[in-house]
Amino acid sequence: MRIELEKLVGGRGNFAHVYQPEELNPIDERVNLAHAAEVEGTIRRTGQAVAVNGHVETRAQVECDRCLKPVQLPVSADFALEYITEADYESSSIAALSEEEMSVSVFDGESIDVDEIVKEQILLAVPARTLCGEDCKGICPECGIDLNTGQCNCAADEVDPRWAALKSLKNSD
Ligand SMILES: [Zn+2]
Ligand SMILES: [Zn+2]
Repeated sequence: MRIELEKLVGGRGNFAHVYQPEELNPIDERVNLAHAAEVEGTIRRTGQAVAVNGHVETRAQVECDRCLKPVQLPVSADFALEYITEADYESSSIAALSEEEMSVSVFDGESIDVDEIVKEQILLAVPARTLCGEDCKGICPECGIDLNTGQCNCAADEVDPRWAALKSLKNSD
């Protein structure tokens, strides 16, 4: 969804949309939506800048870093964004106006892409590393079995050479 600035009445407006997962997936190479994403917010022209404030609510899905099982994470994010045109950004007189909590983005001066905002907020909300549980045992690097649900003998088959040496000493007694 794009919001055309010239269609805003009095320089302001509200927006709301429910994205089905397939509208936005994949969010990036590791993150997908597991549930519809609801976004709502306000858009307001402030001089040369455009302020966009709102909220995103959804459930994201990523893979466990150790066992690759899907893990769902709730996303509930407030955002306060400010957009300026590239020309204004370069003259940068406006950059001093941005508050701590606000991030300034460059846009084409004509429309705001809400899809991009929603994707960005989801990525910001998802941690860089995710485990299905603190004690996830992961996958055996030898045979690929999920060690949370099964066992294998890969580790047991490896005989430590130090023990092998001791064994042969004992046998020679
Ligand atoms: Zn796991
Ligand atoms: Zn194994």
